Amino acid sequence: MADTIAAISTAMGEAGIGIVRISGRDAISIGSRIFRGKNTDNLEKSKNRKLIYGHIVDPKNDEIIDEVLIVSMKEPYTYTRENMVEIYCHGGIISVKRILELILENDARLAEPGEFTKRAFLNGRLDLSQAEAVIDVIRAKTDESFKVSLNQLEGNISKKVREIREVLLEMIAHIEASIDFPEEDIEEITYEELEEKAKEVQKSIEKLLETADRGKILRDGLNTVILGKPNVGKSSLLNAILRENRAIVTDIPGTTRDIIEEYVNIDGIPLKIIDTAGIRDTEDLVEKIGVDRAKDRVDEADLIIAIFDASEKLTEEDYNIIDIIKNKRSIVLLNKSDLPNEYDEKHLKEMLPNYEIITTSITKGIGVDRLEQKIKDMFYTGELEVESDTIVTNMRHKDQLIKAHKNINSGLDGIVSNIPLDCIEVDIKSCWQNLGEISGDTVGEDILDRIFSEFCIGK
Ligand code: GDP
Repeated sequence: MADTIAAISTAMGEAGIGIVRISGRDAISIGSRIFRGKNTDNLEKSKNRKLIYGHIVDPKNDEIIDEVLIVSMKEPYTYTRENMVEIYCHGGIISVKRILELILENDARLAEPGEFTKRAFLNGRLDLSQAEAVIDVIRAKTDESFKVSLNQLEGNISKKVREIREVLLEMIAHIEASIDFPEEDIEEITYEELEEKAKEVQKSIEKLLETADRGKILRDGLNTVILGKPNVGKSSLLNAILRENRAIVTDIPGTTRDIIEEYVNIDGIPLKIIDTAGIRDTEDLVEKIGVDRAKDRVDEADLIIAIFDASEKLTEEDYNIIDIIKNKRSIVLLNKSDLPNEYDEKHLKEMLPNYEIITTSITKGIGVDRLEQKIKDMFYTGELEVESDTIVTNMRHKDQLIKAHKNINSGLDGIVSNIPLDCIEVDIKSCWQNLGEISGDTVGEDILDRIFSEFCIGK
């Protein structure tokens, strides 16, 4: 069993209780050394997984640190599959810190970020995609993203991936038998059979990949950019959506100089809204930074909300924006509809023939609900059932699937053109390897380190 690690598992701050966790070979003996049970309960002799009451005491001088509940859990039926102790003490900063320090003085070491979960993976309790789902569960911002992560924690992605790998393995075995023992009686696999299996694999990978876009939105939020010339109402819109005043709303053009990012939740769709300084040419350096960054953001955006001013004629800047949104998924708002109309309606409609133009008066609260409905219609068609489908939410998984897809395509090309079996085998093996990195069946230490370093300490 590995050395013994400890960490605070709850967030630091004012709270009712805080939890300190210990895992590893000496977890229970360390716990016993610093715990005095109220009714002479001894942690080492206490029943497995029974919560007992008492005090954490510094064994050097018998000083009482805090009043706690403590539980010992014997391996292998624990989160890490090692001996574990959890201490429930008073929340806040002092108690948890002092208890952790005491544990560290008593021969445990501070856990690295994600080390408890990493041990759960290394000891076979979770596969890699399940371990990654643990972070997603913690970070989930909406009910839906939480559900998808929980689904992944159940191991659904790995199950699908393993099924595909089974087929690939079968192909590899047959190819190797045909190469190694051509004279023997082992039934040789035909190119037709290989083609059929390769197509099956290709289709399964494509099916998983199809879910990735929506998965990314569920996990990271819909990357949304609000575009419009200065003073058109961008900050007002952001505020209306947030229903709190975080962005600066002013009458001076160009005062929203920096880019502001906010999360909102529109009926389960997490929106990461980016408010920009607008797209325009300017000599002002500060503004320029904002504008350049705005252009980058537009390229990365999943959705653009473009706002035009109904109370003014269209300007050069408006035309620039129209150019930008033509090739992007966008929603068009015509704001300040409460003021006398000055814009050229026909012209705007001609330039944006495929867009429904939503008329708004953001300051009067008109039209914002229609905008929200439109977002829901665009992204929440309901065709993906979160509970029943396996949805790829993790970009690492998506990258591996793309690589696997390339390799199976190349293998399939080889099969169709009847190239020698050992050349085909190279692609099939790579595909098998790519998929193995999702479940962690074939994965390097560097990737593991990168994944677990994303975790918080104590998980
Ligand atoms: P931004 O520069 O695009 O972020 O624009 P702001 O949100 O700062 O708005 C500029 C000014 O226009 C503010 O005084 C807002 O109150 C005003 N404004 C925004 N929307 C409307 C609207 O629908 N009608 C009217 N009359 N004024 C608005």
